[in-house]
Amino acid sequence: MKTGRKVIWLELLDKSKVAVAEQGKDKEKKPRKAMPRWFWPVGLMTTGIAGAAVVVLRGCWHRKMSWPIRVEGYSYQVCLGCGIKRLFDEDTFHGYGSYSYDLHELIARDRVARLKALHEEKPA
Ligand SMILES: [Zn+2]
Repeated sequence: MKTGRKVIWLELLDKSKVAVAEQGKDKEKKPRKAMPRWFWPVGLMTTGIAGAAVVVLRGCWHRKMSWPIRVEGYSYQVCLGCGIKRLFDEDTFHGYGSYSYDLHELIARDRVARLKALHEEKPA
């Protein structure tokens, strides 16, 4: 009885091994049109490194901004973490435009943007 069961199990195991082996053969026969094996690991690694680089290089996310400060007819906020400045719209009560450490650069950019908007509104 016991030996007979063992034989059956061995046969089953052998059959499954054969099936696995045949599957392997099938895979080998098929021409691989898919990406090479290293593609996904390398892709994931690159994505991870790029993400880490962004976090490290960016450093400050400018989440804590100062109360708006008014100078030369412009309001701006200063990041309490790194000191970068951003213009502030008092009407909508939101910061707008790009960040810069140079306030005069921000004001100049804003003037250019407003002039462009004016020219586009009034086509002669
Ligand atoms: Zn900041």
